[in-house]
Amino acid sequence: MARYTGPVCRLCRRDGMKLFLKGTRCDTPKCAFERRDAPPGMHQFRRGKLTDYGIHLREKQKVKHYYGVLERQFRGYYDRAKRAKGNTGDELMGLLERRLDNIVHRLGFGQSRNQARQLIGHGHITVNGHRVDVPSYLLRAGDVIRVKNRPNSLRMVTDNLASHEREVPDFLTIQEGAIPEGVVARLPEATDVSIPVETQLIVELCSK
Ligand code: SF4
Repeated sequence: MARYTGPVCRLCRRDGMKLFLKGTRCDTPKCAFERRDAPPGMHQFRRGKLTDYGIHLREKQKVKHYYGVLERQFRGYYDRAKRAKGNTGDELMGLLERRLDNIVHRLGFGQSRNQARQLIGHGHITVNGHRVDVPSYLLRAGDVIRVKNRPNSLRMVTDNLASHEREVPDFLTIQEGAIPEGVVARLPEATDVSIPVETQLIVELCSK
């Protein structure tokens, strides 16, 4: 699946908040948003107030940037969330949180979602004992995510685990032994998302 390959700090500045797309660098004074929190581009200070459509669009773009998904894939998640029984916005965020690249990052195996995606693509991660190299793979409650028992894989993940303080969300449990592994204790909910999101704005925009 295609992905955004441009400069990521621009996305934080565009969305007006830190999206933590660069791993440990995001927590240092080198963070581009900390240094300059104005939108990117030449005429950043001349821009006026956002329109109603702009406010809705920014919310959707923020979520897409945060999870690293492009429009088509996002639409797929939205359609699936719409068909589900619960609140569409909550279902949408639950689906995005269940992505394997997100969970690998939230366990701390990858410093960022991009790095987690690379670990998965290169075959360093297994789910329930089987190699899964699809970053968008949706996990279920009870799934076990384990690092492959290979020196390279273990070294990369243990380095990442040691490199920064992280808060593992309630819906995951982690065991940092010789072979780090995590378990999805329950399905994630909208409240488990670590950035503020107004899902109602996204649903209003997508349902037009
Ligand atoms: Fe965003 Fe991280 Fe870049 Fe800061 S360093 S602007 S949080 S991606």
